[in-house]
Amino acid sequence: MASIVYAYGENLYINLTNDCPCACVFCVRQKGEGLGSAESLWLEKEPTLADVKQALRGWNLADFAQVVFCGYGEPTCALSLLLRVCKYLRSLRACPQIRLNTNGLSDLINGKPAAPLFAGLVDSVSISMNAPTAEEYVALCKPQYGLEAFPAIFRFAAECKRFVPRVRFTAVDVIGEEKLALCRALAENVDIELCIRKEQ
Ligand code: SF4
Repeated sequence: MASIVYAYGENLYINLTNDCPCACVFCVRQKGEGLGSAESLWLEKEPTLADVKQALRGWNLADFAQVVFCGYGEPTCALSLLLRVCKYLRSLRACPQIRLNTNGLSDLINGKPAAPLFAGLVDSVSISMNAPTAEEYVALCKPQYGLEAFPAIFRFAAECKRFVPRVRFTAVDVIGEEKLALCRALAENVDIELCIRKEQ
């Protein structure tokens, strides 16, 4: 059965949707059915808030360092649900820090600025930069928005810095050290940390 909530390492993850406007060549969705404690992250249907609450019931939040929105899809494709789940988590006594892992394309996906909506609900945002130029990003992540996507990620990151305590970019090590150095320089230029992730 597909998991909405799963444990992986020291964190608890919430898998809200399988939608995504990208098709990254390194996407973990192409490599298996599940991840961590989840046998499958392919959802039979989009969950409701009640489904997420039910899925959270089996877990002790105090056991985890963070609750992370990240699964087999882009969490901001389910922005309204994401915000309602954050509010619910915040109402729980043992709620750890809340992190959003995102491709940074929410504003194109939803047609409105998302960052102000995260204020007070999200503690940190990890945004996939993944490439040093718009053209290379398109080649690697195949966003449905084409060359518009890359600058949108940087606008989103700058907005998040205003409303979320911790913002970082990420890139996957598959792109090689030369391109990672260029990504690092782009991140430094906007005063955001770059975290290099290992390909899973
Ligand atoms: S943005 Fe994330 S979920 Fe979407 S294809 Fe890329 S790695 Fe996969």
